[in-house]
Amino acid sequence: MNKLEILVVEDEPQIRKLLQIILENNDYKVTFAATGKEALVLCANNFPELVLLDIGLPDISGHQVLKDLRQWYNKAIIVLSVFDNESDIVSALDNGATDYLIKPFRTAELLARIRAAIRRNHSEKESCITKIKDLEVDFLSMTVKKNGEYLKLTSTEFNLLAIFVRNSGRVLTHQFLLQEIWGSTLNTETQYLRVFVGTLRKKIEDDHNKPQYIITENGVGYRFASLDN
Ligand code: CA
Repeated sequence: MNKLEILVVEDEPQIRKLLQIILENNDYKVTFAATGKEALVLCANNFPELVLLDIGLPDISGHQVLKDLRQWYNKAIIVLSVFDNESDIVSALDNGATDYLIKPFRTAELLARIRAAIRRNHSEKESCITKIKDLEVDFLSMTVKKNGEYLKLTSTEFNLLAIFVRNSGRVLTHQFLLQEIWGSTLNTETQYLRVFVGTLRKKIEDDHNKPQYIITENGVGYRFASLDN
């Protein structure tokens, strides 16, 4: 079987070494770029299944690399960022990053995110019904069941849930959600979003104070429960 190729864009030798060991042990083929320019060339030549992209690169910033790649590269890009830099993360997600990880990351988490991102590469064909935990969302009839019972959702709540479910496991920024639902990215409207997330949680969560489906990513947005668990 052909191994899936991951392009690692990272300038720090220790992290490269670490990623090489982890990824090769998990049967991925790994190629490396140490600069942004190298990354653009390698990605165009190899068209890897996924790019792990460090934001802090010596030549061009990871943000610029991300923007350039997104002109033509439609597969998964996971951004690696340093701790405590929310604005970096938000801007990466808004520029088309599939997901992000904060350094230092745990091996299990890295591998889980990679699997989820790669699965998304292949899940463009969407089935009518998606099940996550006790929820069953039918995109065709626009209905939702929890434990087999129909839930009454408003159309905005359904749209919001549909966006979450289509992007399950992936963090979505406030901006992205506002744009998807209302076609607006006015930051002042983040408040409305919070209200709708609140009412949706009351309908789909067992305990809306301890959400299992719509997880808040502080300062960034929301992540819907993954299909994995
Ligand atoms: Ca770096």
